[in-house]
Amino acid sequence: MSDVLLTGVVLYGMNNIYTVESGGREFRCRIKGKVLRTERIEYNPIAVGDRVDVRPDEYTPEAGWITGRQPRSSVLSRWNKKRQAVQVIAANTDTLVGVSSLRSPPFRPRFLDRLTVSAEAAALQTLIVVNKCDLPREQDTEKRLADYRRIGYEVLLCSAKTGEGVPALVEALQGRTAVFFGQSGVGKSSLLNRIEPGLALTVGEVSQKHNRGSHTTSYARMLRLAGGLSIIDTPGVRELEIADVEPEQLAFRFREFEELAPQCAYSACRHLDEPECAVRAAVESGGVHPDRYESYLRIYSDLKSFHEEHHGSPYG
Ligand code: GDP
Ligand code: ZN
Repeated sequence: MSDVLLTGVVLYGMNNIYTVESGGREFRCRIKGKVLRTERIEYNPIAVGDRVDVRPDEYTPEAGWITGRQPRSSVLSRWNKKRQAVQVIAANTDTLVGVSSLRSPPFRPRFLDRLTVSAEAAALQTLIVVNKCDLPREQDTEKRLADYRRIGYEVLLCSAKTGEGVPALVEALQGRTAVFFGQSGVGKSSLLNRIEPGLALTVGEVSQKHNRGSHTTSYARMLRLAGGLSIIDTPGVRELEIADVEPEQLAFRFREFEELAPQCAYSACRHLDEPECAVRAAVESGGVHPDRYESYLRIYSDLKSFHEEHHGSPYG
């Protein structure tokens, strides 16, 4: 190792090799030693967006060693079922962009509700992007989108196909570090290609893409785009398994419950079957969308069984 110590940003990592950008150069780095021990079970000590210390390798150009990780301003995590560990998806971002589509695949607010919970847990802003607005929409979808806006989330409709709404999206991303999340097929790659035509991300039918095992869809990576945009693209997922939320804390991750919870008869009300629950009353009177409440119940039940199975240990 040389004596030179640089700092850089992790653009992506694959097979324990991390590509770190420092001073306009990209270094392929391995982790040096045990400096990166974490307090909990995280299988990846370094995530995309991490700011790290790098010692360039003396003998190999553009190679180096990660010797330390700087404190993170934010951590977005998920529970990785396959690895049975918390996986940090992105570090140091400020906005979670939930990409969905109006149709094909159908609009899935259930998925977006899980995203908003993860975003709230990581203290990130949420931007809901609804792609394929060139396709006809259902009235139910309109109502759901209006409700997301009502409770304070930013919602943008756009079409990667026609370009409609894309300038507004670029505008909204200005000055932010955003992580893009979406179920496969919603058009996330098409949208990123629209934002930056030179990207040439693979677009295709979902099944074909997975069979091909294309690079662009198998790991998260930070894209540096024109106009100073920084976007972390993640592989298309079926679900974002929530980590870092205790079942009893879940209600605090539903922002429209916040004002209501103090009005519940029980101070430790879980808003399930307790009498005189202000949240349930609001579901009846229109203050809480019934679908959001249903998401709350489902996520609560998932977290509860998870918690019992793992004795709470993976929570941060
Ligand atoms: P990803 O899996 O989210 O990255 O989705 P892709 O970008 O690969 O797109 C999946 C499919 O949706 C492709 O067939 C695209 O041509 C199509 N698609 C993407 N954006 C739009 C859009 O705005 N409108 C319509 N009608 N189709 C789109
Ligand atoms: Zn309650």
